[in-house]
Amino acid sequence: MQSVRAQRLHQNSDQIPSLPLYRSAPALEVRLEDFELFAIDRLRVLKAISDGLSRGKKPNEMENLVNDVWIAHMRHAQASESVNKDIISHFVLRLVYCRTEDLRKWFLSMETALFRYRFMRLNSEDQKAQMAEFNLPYKSVGSAEYEGLKEKLGQVARSINQPLPSADAIFYKVPFEEVPELVACRKVYIHKGYAYVAMNQVVSLVVTQFRSHLSKALILTNRKWTSTIREQEKDRLAPIVEALSTSYLGPDYSQPRESGEIKIKDLDQIAKSSFPLCMRHLFEKLKEDHHLKHGGRMQLGLFLKGVGLKLEDALAFWRAEFSQKVGAERFEKEYAYSIRHNYGKEGKRTDYTPYSCQKIISSTPSVGDHHGCPFRHFSDENLRAALSRMGVGARAMEDVMDKVRNRHYQLACTLTFEAVHSSSCDAGINHPNQYFIDSQKSMQSKS
Ligand code: SF4
Repeated sequence: MQSVRAQRLHQNSDQIPSLPLYRSAPALEVRLEDFELFAIDRLRVLKAISDGLSRGKKPNEMENLVNDVWIAHMRHAQASESVNKDIISHFVLRLVYCRTEDLRKWFLSMETALFRYRFMRLNSEDQKAQMAEFNLPYKSVGSAEYEGLKEKLGQVARSINQPLPSADAIFYKVPFEEVPELVACRKVYIHKGYAYVAMNQVVSLVVTQFRSHLSKALILTNRKWTSTIREQEKDRLAPIVEALSTSYLGPDYSQPRESGEIKIKDLDQIAKSSFPLCMRHLFEKLKEDHHLKHGGRMQLGLFLKGVGLKLEDALAFWRAEFSQKVGAERFEKEYAYSIRHNYGKEGKRTDYTPYSCQKIISSTPSVGDHHGCPFRHFSDENLRAALSRMGVGARAMEDVMDKVRNRHYQLACTLTFEAVHSSSCDAGINHPNQYFIDSQKSMQSKS
């Protein structure tokens, strides 16, 4: 069993910080499979946060969401193991997400949000301990100064629907530029350049510190990664690290659905009702041109396999289309092999897996290709026309286009699903085959 260096971190639960600051990479021994599995679990948490934020969830909903996904993916029966997992997974993902500016930006935002909501769930004693760990140079306001400001602090509390501060309330006096979000929302009393931050608002202070520390750390990690780690670890960690940022975290759709086989005669109808836009587009192009290039054949072919089209039917389906363009003989010679190959009947006999949204979105179709994700690869005009053909109305269309402009392609697809099926899809769309299955379920529940 391979492992990645040194000793376990926390053996004794008395020493466990409930929310680590990830100041420096720990000297740890980690089994190689844990290195990857821990990172995938943390990634599930960060992805859930990303979905929640882009869906516009409110702060209290986000707090509950973060708590639930953290318990589901990161909790261990032993507190010390949870902390080890927390720290290991954070540092593995630092390596994964330090490598480009886009990756750094995403990781920084999601980790900061995660830290914020975890901090908010700490009790006030733990929050104070956390502030002490940050070594913040702020002092709490003394009782004489507090007496002089009591009236004003009470007014601010009233204006934001907070209870009036009690006699022993703690406020911190902080240069106002260090709490920009409190200032912007007028949630804090400012006097002579200082903001008076209540104990229940200190999250803003620590989050700013956390973010700035992590942002610098990511740049340093990137330097180390490019100068040494990538080369030293090229056979062991580098392939894992490089695959993690695009890894798909949902179920495997390589086997046809249990609930049934799909027959060729039904394809036209289910393509209209239940295919996501990427597959609908490929299907229509195939019917129109009687041909698809390699990328399109792979994307659609594997999807159809996952949907439940058996090998014999797949061969008949592709043959019927392609032979109109290239003739039956050429189809058998040049194309039938790769269809059998997709079903694991040729070559290495691997059963190939239908592509996930992440894989499709990150593909780079060239001129004449029809694969890829329309939410990412179509022009604005073509996307609007395609959505309208799917039955997306004017109002939903603007919501979808808004997500596309912000590069939330899977969320745009989720909103499309919701508009077309008039039902919600809380888990979000992560895989074209998931879209298909959810669509069939939604239609069955209404029939
Ligand atoms: S988000 Fe996924 S399912 Fe939707 S169109 Fe893009 S690749 Fe297809």
